[in-house]
Amino acid sequence: MRAAIGLGSNLGDRRAHIEQALAALESMPGVSVEAVSTLIETEPVGGPPQGPYLNAAALLSCELDPHGLLAVLQGLERGAGREPGPRWGPRPLDLDVLLLDGGERVVRDDELEVPHPRLSGRRFVLEPLAEIAPHWKVTAGGRTVEELCENCRARL
Ligand code: AMP
Repeated sequence: MRAAIGLGSNLGDRRAHIEQALAALESMPGVSVEAVSTLIETEPVGGPPQGPYLNAAALLSCELDPHGLLAVLQGLERGAGREPGPRWGPRPLDLDVLLLDGGERVVRDDELEVPHPRLSGRRFVLEPLAEIAPHWKVTAGGRTVEELCENCRARL
């Protein structure tokens, strides 16, 4: 399976949290990190008042199923010291499954929703993702990451 993931951090050494997560993924058997976007600094969206985030996106190739990948990402979040807190609150590491297999693979259950439900309108997700997966499809109508990213920019 190929997966596009989002990485974010706004607590502690933000760059180190993101780089360590990527290194941990790369070191896992059956997982390889194929591409990593540049890191961008972004203002928090929603949630309580909190500091700015660093955000990035990465493309993985992995021998996991979607829920197996989610479990790996959640383990890395906990390993970075993430504790249960308010929704959209500050966190040392936030990892999301954004898209799978070029955007063709859809998952929707209580634990996992892919394409990620808040992907389309979020510039801080779309901009890094557009660097590494511009032609992946986000919507059933077949709109690509690049198209949605351009829309998002035009709205600002
Ligand atoms: P967050 O606070 O953004 O890290 O949200 C974590 C929760 O979202 C977990 O309970 C996950 O099971 C759920 N979730 C649903 N879809 C996704 C997804 N595509 N990527 C990551 N977490 C997801």
